[in-house]
Formats: sequence, C-alpha cells, structure tokens
Amino acid sequence: LLDIRDLHVEFPSQGGTLHAVDGVSLRLEEGEVLGIVGESGSGKSVTMMALMGLIGWPGRVRAEHLRFAGRDLLGISDRARRGLVGKDIAMIFQEPTTSLNPCFTIGWQLMETLRLHLRLDKRAAKKRAIDLLEQVGIPAASTRLSSYPHQLSGGMNQRVMIAMAIACNPRLLIADEPTTALDVTIQAQILDLLRTLQKERGMGLVLITHNMGVVSEMAQRVAVMYAGQLMEERGVDELFAMPQHPYTAALLAALP
Ligand code: ATP
Ligand code: MG
Repeated sequence: LLDIRDLHVEFPSQGGTLHAVDGVSLRLEEGEVLGIVGESGSGKSVTMMALMGLIGWPGRVRAEHLRFAGRDLLGISDRARRGLVGKDIAMIFQEPTTSLNPCFTIGWQLMETLRLHLRLDKRAAKKRAIDLLEQVGIPAASTRLSSYPHQLSGGMNQRVMIAMAIACNPRLLIADEPTTALDVTIQAQILDLLRTLQKERGMGLVLITHNMGVVSEMAQRVAVMYAGQLMEERGVDELFAMPQHPYTAALLAALP
C-alpha cells in the first residue's frame, strides 16, 4: 500500500542545513499497522508530512519514490494529490488545532469534508456526519453538529478529528501521537476506538507514538527513528525480544 524509498527532508537552519529526515525507507501492506517510535525531534512527524505533501518552502523533500497504492506521490500534480490526500490517505495530527477550525461548527467542517471529497449533497452529508460522530462515540451526535470545537473537551475534539479522518474511508490512516494531549483514561478510550475502527475497516495504520506499550498492543511492525534516520524496522515480537540497536534497547529498558 505504501512504499517510501530513501526519503530526505531538509530545512535551512542558521547558516546550515537540518536533515530532519535522512534516508528513510518504509513499507506498509494493506491493512497493516506500523508503529513509529523515536525521541522528540527524530523526524517522525516530518516523514509523514512529507508523504502528505505538507512540507512547504523552505523545506526540501527528495526521495527515490513515495509510492501509495502504486502511484508515486512525488511527481503528481496538486490536483491529483488533493484527490488522494484527505481522502485515501488521512492524517490525525499531533495538535488538534491543526485540523479543526475554531470559527466553524464541527458539523459544518465534517460536512464540507464529505462534500469536497465524496461530492455528497447536503442531506446525505448531514446524515453521514451524524453516523460518523456516532461511530467515534460522541454522545447525542445529532445535536453536536452545531457545536464549535471550543465547546467540546479535548477528548471529544480528538474524536471529531478521528471522524474527519475516517470520513472518506481512507485506505491509509496516519495517527501522529493522537493521544498525547489527553488524560490517561481518555487515552485508552481513543486508542481502543482507533483499534476498533482499524479492524472493522481493514485500513492501513501508521501510529506514531512515544508509548511502546501501545505499539506492542496495536502494531504488527515497528520502526524506530533516531536523528532523522531509521534505526531498525521489524516485527513487534522480534523487536521486543531482541532489539538490534542500542537506542531501541534503551527505549525498551525505559518501559515500566
Ligand atoms: P515529536 O515526538 O516531538 O513530535 P518528531 O519525531 O515528530 O518529534 P519532527 O516534528 O518530525 O520530530 O521534527 C524533526 C526535526 O525537524 C526537528 O528538529 C524539527 O525542529 C524540525 N522541523 C520540523 N518541521 C520544521 C519546519 N517546518 N521548519 C524547520 N524545521 C522543522
Ligand atoms: Mg511529531
């Protein structure tokens, strides 16, 4: 489903160049869950942003290819990219504020997404928006359409973001630390929700997290990043049994 080959992302920084991502290659099969772990600043988010075409000037993206479902996302037109990103590939961002607009109700934002990508008319979009909010466990979904993001709790906003991300039945969902900003009980609920949705829909899932426990529960494979590079990438059981890289070993040693 996904095949990233030799990805480099550079940003200019104080007279030099920051290699935020430095030769990363990753693959993901249809319906597979890949965990990406690594310390802060190791390039996890930037890797996925590059895939989504979200690294703008002055950042530079190079790769041998960034293939999704057999198509190279590197060379395609903006128009073709818009047809894929947000629809077939969806991302839940680390910061809820990146995705939800405080000036519009969540109903409006969901319905716009559906109208834009699936070309649903107003009635169909409204019905599907309510369905989606119910699927992500928002109580009284139909009355929530007229809520603004600030009227909902952090956990609820995160559920709305998940609803937005799965609105168009993506084949690949990228969840970038989807629970960092939430309290522990809500974290578990949101992860459960993601797990259920992933299983039901057979989506590919890239789960970026600092939590090795979550990785061991949800992912089949795990990629470990350090300073923009991929340290190792293996089956979860293998990695836990015998980490190859010292950094991975340190990560595992830090587990409670
Ligand atoms: P975290 O776990 O904290 O989210 P991360 O692994 O996701 O960390 P990235 O956000 O991918 O880290 O950042 C990798 C590096 O790229 C960091 O040094 C960061 O400061 C830098 N970086 C990211 N985005 C930009 C940007 N738009 N301009 C300049 N530098 C950037
Ligand atoms: Mg990040």
